[in-house]
Amino acid sequence: MSHPYKSKAERDNVLAVLDSGHAHGDGPFTASATTRLKRITTAEHALLTTSCTHALELAALLLELGPDDEVIVPSFTFPSMAAAVALRGATCVFADIDPATGNLDPESVEAAITNRTVAIIVMHYGGVAADMEGLLALSRRFGLAIIEDNAHGLGGTWRGQQLGTIGTMGTLSFHDTKNIHCGEGGALLTNDSVLIGRAEIIREKGTDRARFMRGQVDKYSWQEIGSSYLPSEFNAAVLDAQLAEFDTIQAGRHRVWDSYAAALPKWAADNGFQLMSVPEDRGHTAHLFYLLAPDPETQDGLLTHLRAHGVGAAFHYVPLDSSPAGLKFGRVGTTCRKSADFASRLVRLPLWAAMQDEHIDHVIEAVTEFTSIR
Ligand SMILES: *Cc1c(COP(=O)(O)O)cnc(C)c1O
Repeated sequence: MSHPYKSKAERDNVLAVLDSGHAHGDGPFTASATTRLKRITTAEHALLTTSCTHALELAALLLELGPDDEVIVPSFTFPSMAAAVALRGATCVFADIDPATGNLDPESVEAAITNRTVAIIVMHYGGVAADMEGLLALSRRFGLAIIEDNAHGLGGTWRGQQLGTIGTMGTLSFHDTKNIHCGEGGALLTNDSVLIGRAEIIREKGTDRARFMRGQVDKYSWQEIGSSYLPSEFNAAVLDAQLAEFDTIQAGRHRVWDSYAAALPKWAADNGFQLMSVPEDRGHTAHLFYLLAPDPETQDGLLTHLRAHGVGAAFHYVPLDSSPAGLKFGRVGTTCRKSADFASRLVRLPLWAAMQDEHIDHVIEAVTEFTSIR
């Protein structure tokens, strides 16, 4: 369970868009939000999009994926990246995760590589970086692009580097369940100036309108395959207000995360649960806090117990390799047993930036009242 953060300026910003007469995309709020985003992420280039899903579609178009190509994706993730691959007619090849983080396991990825593999899409689960050392080594050895689905990880780091800027491209989500939101929205990040030039065109219906608006060409025309991935100024106005309070929002979320991490270790050890943990070389984003139950029955038991105590706990991600579309558009590269096991034991606790102390205490009390039947 989560509640979108209400930032101070968003109402005024939206009214300013209404009054300005410029509601379509790429206006002043888009420019301001983009500047803030580049500052937070250190990315050289950022393009706001209508969603993270669309940013992933844009990335798939930039890679010129086609029917002969295979892209390795984790079994345990949200479906968008697999859908973006399947839309290009390419094949999703599912790889397993490392249960320590829920992230793509480089060993499983290596076993799934064939001579048709062109890219790896990695998700940083809960804003904790995947094993980028292992994945970057595979990328160099086999000449593969890396796309980071960083929907959870705005501001997260791996060895000091910002998530979403380590691979070839990164994507962000500003859906209202994410740390920073504008209802529906997203972004594409890259440090590659050739890719960003093409991305601008694809995002604007395949035209060079962005260059025309900057006065670099005297008319604009259809340049290549494209779509409409740019958000309106209404979305950008909300996003700009949210990004202005990025530090406050993150501090609020970390406060909740840290409370759970401090209060639950003894209960977890006594009851066979594992708490979410963050490797030393990574800075996480407090996007979520999860527990792993000892077995699926205990997961079910805790979820039922928490709901009975009015706590909105949740689980997620039906492994993609066993989902109906996964069976149709993908194949299993290596067995994804750890992904299935992880999903069957996962429990997420409520977490949002403005969560009050008494609510946090209530969740902790409800969790620690539960004892696993063993
Ligand atoms: C939320 C989410 C998406 C989709 O984001 P949208 O902005 O809603 O398209 C993609 N990947 C992951 C990992 C997500 O959590």
